[in-house]
Amino acid sequence: MAGLRREPADILAELADLRAADAPTHGGRVLAYVYDSGRPELDALAADAARAVQPVNGLDPTTFTSVAAMERGVVGFARAAFHGDGDVVGSVTSGGTESCILAVKTARDAWAAARARSGADPDALRPRLVAPITAHAAFRKAAHVLGLAYDPVPVDASTGRPDPAAIGDRLGDDVALVVVSAPSYPFAALDPVAEVAALTAARGIPLHVDACIGGFALAFAGDDRALPAWDFTVPGVTSLSADLHKYGYAPKGVSVLLTRGRDLQRHQYFATTEWPGYPVVNPTLAGSKPAGPLAAGWAIIEALGVEGYAELTAEALRATDALRAAVDGIEGLRVVGDPVGPLFAVATDERVPAERRVDPHHWADAAREAGWVLQAQPAVRQAGGDPLPRTTHLTVTPVTESVLPALLPTLTAAADTVRGVPGVDGADALAAVAAGSPEAAGLVAALTGGGADASGGAGGAGAAGLGLGLDSESAWAILSTLGLAGGLPGRLAPVMALIEALPAPITERLLIELLARAVEPGPVGA
Ligand SMILES: *Cc1c(COP(=O)(O)O)cnc(C)c1O
Repeated sequence: MAGLRREPADILAELADLRAADAPTHGGRVLAYVYDSGRPELDALAADAARAVQPVNGLDPTTFTSVAAMERGVVGFARAAFHGDGDVVGSVTSGGTESCILAVKTARDAWAAARARSGADPDALRPRLVAPITAHAAFRKAAHVLGLAYDPVPVDASTGRPDPAAIGDRLGDDVALVVVSAPSYPFAALDPVAEVAALTAARGIPLHVDACIGGFALAFAGDDRALPAWDFTVPGVTSLSADLHKYGYAPKGVSVLLTRGRDLQRHQYFATTEWPGYPVVNPTLAGSKPAGPLAAGWAIIEALGVEGYAELTAEALRATDALRAAVDGIEGLRVVGDPVGPLFAVATDERVPAERRVDPHHWADAAREAGWVLQAQPAVRQAGGDPLPRTTHLTVTPVTESVLPALLPTLTAAADTVRGVPGVDGADALAAVAAGSPEAAGLVAALTGGGADASGGAGGAGAAGLGLGLDSESAWAILSTLGLAGGLPGRLAPVMALIEALPAPITERLLIELLARAVEPGPVGA
């Protein structure tokens, strides 16, 4: 056997060094991206389960029957958790984005099939997706990829929730799907699921509940939280997504999409026998796919069961309550709306005088300096609605409870450090860039001049900025001028202000460049 080029121990030592530079995935210091159950034995179980199926190809559950058995187990657990009856079927996907894309594909293809059956010209109408502006960006991506028009509905700035009647006003023959969130990512608002479902069901329009982030927590929150019904108990809810790699505590790569009605769900599939290779039948976007994330998710479900999830949810919700109470007690900050947890967003309290206000992005930067990662969210203008403020997002996990004694004083001290410091104004941030040199001044004028649609509204999704004709070198030069070519700075407030100030298609193009350059290898042969 040929020898290995490097010793495995060396390779793994190098990987350990690389990992040491990552944000910490455990210990509760990062309040976004990661979901630490605080139970190391679950992580070990997930790793062992994934390793046991490492060589398996999840593409074909008839050849690798363990895949079918585990998928039945996961879908069955989720169906019970979200109160589906025998009419509810489902799939395990690679994550929330894939679940959302597949929910949209299912609805689009069902819509097209119904129109074809009714004799309508299939190309006369472009299908449309209606969702509150707070719906996860994955639905903008889905609309972009699948060719639907995207129609965001404004939310009430004080509650973070849409008016059901405003959604009702958008319904029409071209609407293939309506999406609501349980809860929304930006503000953890529980959308009015039953009220919207009554409107969509009356018109025969499918309704997807995006429970990707909170589903596996809220389902086990217990009756004392007294939430309005948001799952399959609501007639008119036709599909629901929930991520096992969030509050299901599985490692990344596993989510569930449930659909009411076999006939509707079959539109999720793609099959072809018209090529000379093996017959293809795919319920999800990937072809060959790992069984590891499924095995990890399945094993964790088997280990925790309903009781285990209820216990972890109680820990996360207790920690959320404690954090909310603490933020409510910090002068100059306020919790946005009425979040159902275990996440929430924080904005400036405009009721206190300017010198007592706390900018949420300065606050997040101050907390970051003290070793805690909170997630900054930009202000957004809503077409036809009140502006949504800039906020800072906290995702709270079971392990958070154990770090509250360190976290709570940090949040208070961070606010004390920045109280009265005005938030970075996007126009000022651009002016500061412009003052750097005549070239920078010209650049800023060009970036903010040309009438680009800054609303990020209908159709403005994703890579649209590539159509601006900004080539890679120019985008990189702009990032350099903005001081961002060396990676993101420690303080994010100025970056968020630029995101707020620049037209969305330009920011989106620049962020694509930033991420693409981050994974480019060095010069050839270097
Ligand atoms: C995380 C999330 C998604 C997308 O899921 P990924 O797993 O990140 O692809 C969709 N909807 C909501 C509400 C989410 O929080």
